[in-house]
Amino acid sequence: MLKMVIAKPLYRPLKLEILYYLSIRIKLSSNEKQYYLNLKKGYEGEREFASWLKDLSDNYIILYDVLLEHNNSLFQIDALVLTPTIVYLFEIKNYEGDFYIESDIWYTSTGNEIKNPILQLRRCESALRSFLQSCGYTLPINSHVVFTNSEFALFQAPRNQPIILPAQRNRFIKDLNMNAPHSKNYTLAKQFMSAHLQQSPYNLAPKFDYNSLKKGIICATCGAFLSPTKNVQFVCEHCGHKEKIDTSILRSIREFEILFPNKKITTNIIYNWCKIIYSKKTIRRILSKNYMIVGHGKAAHYVPK
Ligand SMILES: [Zn+2]
Repeated sequence: MLKMVIAKPLYRPLKLEILYYLSIRIKLSSNEKQYYLNLKKGYEGEREFASWLKDLSDNYIILYDVLLEHNNSLFQIDALVLTPTIVYLFEIKNYEGDFYIESDIWYTSTGNEIKNPILQLRRCESALRSFLQSCGYTLPINSHVVFTNSEFALFQAPRNQPIILPAQRNRFIKDLNMNAPHSKNYTLAKQFMSAHLQQSPYNLAPKFDYNSLKKGIICATCGAFLSPTKNVQFVCEHCGHKEKIDTSILRSIREFEILFPNKKITTNIIYNWCKIIYSKKTIRRILSKNYMIVGHGKAAHYVPK
């Protein structure tokens, strides 16, 4: 069986990566921490849903995380599945635990009201409809809130809600494959791709500066700070993960680049950033090997090759 086409793959958002590093190197406020954990959980839900769609058959086109502007307001779409005759819209929720619905209001098991995800879906659907119309399309939109977490349970849900529960995964994919389109709607996929907006993750993250961040190299697996070593590899004291020193340093340089896209990469700053490397020569060797040097003397710095 041929597989579907992913026109816009799901990536770990840069914002999430930045917050992950910050969560290790500075003390986030409880709001920031909550924001980070929600973002992380949301992304894990999206990844889970992407694993469901891996079983979709040929001619479906999938786009993840599309950010569009319509009538001066932004709207974010978690996943779109395109065919020549219909557009499927998915709002993905990674909720965990028991929830219930009472007269259209959603509650957690402890009785706290939460935002009604179906209203959120409807708003997104209506914005998407206007967007499609502005592109000259009158395709029907089939939209669903997808709950991806197997620990999620919903009580007192009226029937015929636009909801897909984890237990319905196989049937949902089977139904889509039974109705698989005969051709691909590349034209529409291209229109979404060109309308998609990139949002800078830097103005969303908490404010931080170089000096306030804890320096050192973090473990690739568990995020703990590594201790200096005279061997050719680091061994994390926390999780036992082993990594060649060169790889750890390169990873730290990459992290530095993500956190400080406007700072120049120099041997001195990376030496200070990594903190636990004895010799500047090691840093210089790795930079020279993997980056390109520009400028001379004090102005010399490295840029990606
Ligand atoms: Zn570790």
